[in-house]
Amino acid sequence: MTAPRQAAEEAVYRFPHRHLLGIEGLSPEHISFLLDLADSYVEQNRKPDKKTDLLRGRTVINLFFETSTRTSSSFELAGKRLGGDVMNMSVSQSAIKKGETLIDTAMTLNAMHPDVLVVRHPDAGAVKLLSEKVNCSVINAGDGMHEHPTQALLDALTIRRRRGRIEGLTVAICGDILHSRVARSNIHLLTTMGAAVRVVAPPTLMPCAVERFGIEVTHDMEDGLRDCDIVMMLRLQNERMQGMFVPSTREYFRFFGLTREKLAVAKPDALVMHPGPMNRGVEIDSELADDIDRSVIREQVEMGVAVRMACLDALTREQTGNAD
Ligand code: ASP
Repeated sequence: MTAPRQAAEEAVYRFPHRHLLGIEGLSPEHISFLLDLADSYVEQNRKPDKKTDLLRGRTVINLFFETSTRTSSSFELAGKRLGGDVMNMSVSQSAIKKGETLIDTAMTLNAMHPDVLVVRHPDAGAVKLLSEKVNCSVINAGDGMHEHPTQALLDALTIRRRRGRIEGLTVAICGDILHSRVARSNIHLLTTMGAAVRVVAPPTLMPCAVERFGIEVTHDMEDGLRDCDIVMMLRLQNERMQGMFVPSTREYFRFFGLTREKLAVAKPDALVMHPGPMNRGVEIDSELADDIDRSVIREQVEMGVAVRMACLDALTREQTGNAD
């Protein structure tokens, strides 16, 4: 029996959910379970033989209604490394007739008996709606501005491996908070796991009443970054903006772009993160993004495969009728 399999066997029934639709509502134990399992897959992924037969005979369908590089490729690799059959479907934006097409597509795929559907959709709530219509497990790979749970899990795994814990750390999430599903999932995960979260954005890119999540809100990078352990930068989500939210990208970089000067007020060993894709010179200085002493951006990508393996593993072993 492989080490990850054994770890998973020992921890069986510690993730009693049929779907992974968001981080909101997951307990600290369930989050820790996924992170522990993912940790064992990190080790497996560094070996020459990366493959197991845990998902042998199982079918995973990646259904992407929005473009993706990291998320779709890492789900594909995760499914294949676990020995499953993986099918990738990307549905072009122009082909979407909202609602009807989503459900029609889901019902068509459902008839082919997949075990897991991994779904990305531009509308918040669309993945949950789809999960109510199919018999298999559904993983949310990003639904509009709502949640991106596997991103928050891979961020947490990166932090936990680097710092040994999440509890008690101060994490500054900076940039386009308003349009970011990454920010939402991270706020839920980090606060659930006992970290202090600060969000930093211009007023136009800050959601209303975001303090209700028990986080600190500031419009000033220096205030937000002071003494923090982790700096998480976000992309300006231009595709979700109607009209102008910032005067210019140059001005945005001046006030909200992460540079060495701004980072100087954080803890001396503060880590820099970014979910990708990065706009170099807009939200982050290009040279800083590549500095392996400060930036863990590439490590985040590595953790992404392990986290997605853990999610596929956890959900398929729970396919015994447990409701979400
Ligand atoms: N890749 C992340 C997402 O899908 C972040 C981004 O696109 O900026 O939400």
